[in-house]
Amino acid sequence: MLEVRAASVTYGKVRALAGVSLSVPENGIVTIIGSNGAGKSTTLRAISGLARLSSGEIHFAGERIDNLPADRVVARGIAHVPEGRRIFKDMTVEENLMTGAFLRRDAAGVAKDLEGVYARFPRLAERRRQLAKTMSGGEQQMLAIGRALMARPKLLLMDEPSMGLAPVIVEEIARIVVDIKAQGVPVVLVEQNAQLALELADHAYVLETGSLALEGPARELQRNDHVRAAYLGI
Ligand code: ATP
Repeated sequence: MLEVRAASVTYGKVRALAGVSLSVPENGIVTIIGSNGAGKSTTLRAISGLARLSSGEIHFAGERIDNLPADRVVARGIAHVPEGRRIFKDMTVEENLMTGAFLRRDAAGVAKDLEGVYARFPRLAERRRQLAKTMSGGEQQMLAIGRALMARPKLLLMDEPSMGLAPVIVEEIARIVVDIKAQGVPVVLVEQNAQLALELADHAYVLETGSLALEGPARELQRNDHVRAAYLGI
């Protein structure tokens, strides 16, 4: 469904990605793991049109998308839950959710999906008139995920959804990711928490300083000696 082919991204003189190729099938969870600065966020930003490729191509559902502005990528069906959530702090929960649907013209479908998000995240339903900045970190992460789902995406990109959250909330987020996959939406999951990522994912890519070091079924990478030593602390 998504094909990244030999993608490179440079920021000024910094080469953040150097010829990375990966593919995401129509169902399942693909994870990208790696240490700080390896290029994980840059990969997601390149897919969603927030970072320009200096070379390479990205194809989604049979069409080339690496030349499109970010809003056109959203319109094609790719939603991005960014690192650090980036919710609108001075807007209410419901206003934040509605920004996820800004390109949609099907009011009835939007209303139905809003109820769907509230059913999935009862905490957001209880707090729908509350300002986003008054929510806890876990609630803000759920809001960021809910907002992305309001675009009714065909593919969801998630950047470090577990970051800074208590273990019990991380488990809740993990269940949500699996549930999104079960509903037929493939997920690209970027995580520092490699253990969690490999448990959730079907397929995994390991990025090291902008290049792919390894890839394979997540179950196999969990047993790989390099992955165990470098990322799982075993
Ligand atoms: P982290 O887990 O720390 O977020 P990451 O794997 O997501 O790391 P990226 O954020 O993709 O890594 O960064 C890859 C490289 O690009 C790093 O060396 C980073 O310093 C650099 N970089 C990222 N964004 C910019 C930017 N806007 N301007 C300049 N350099 C950048």
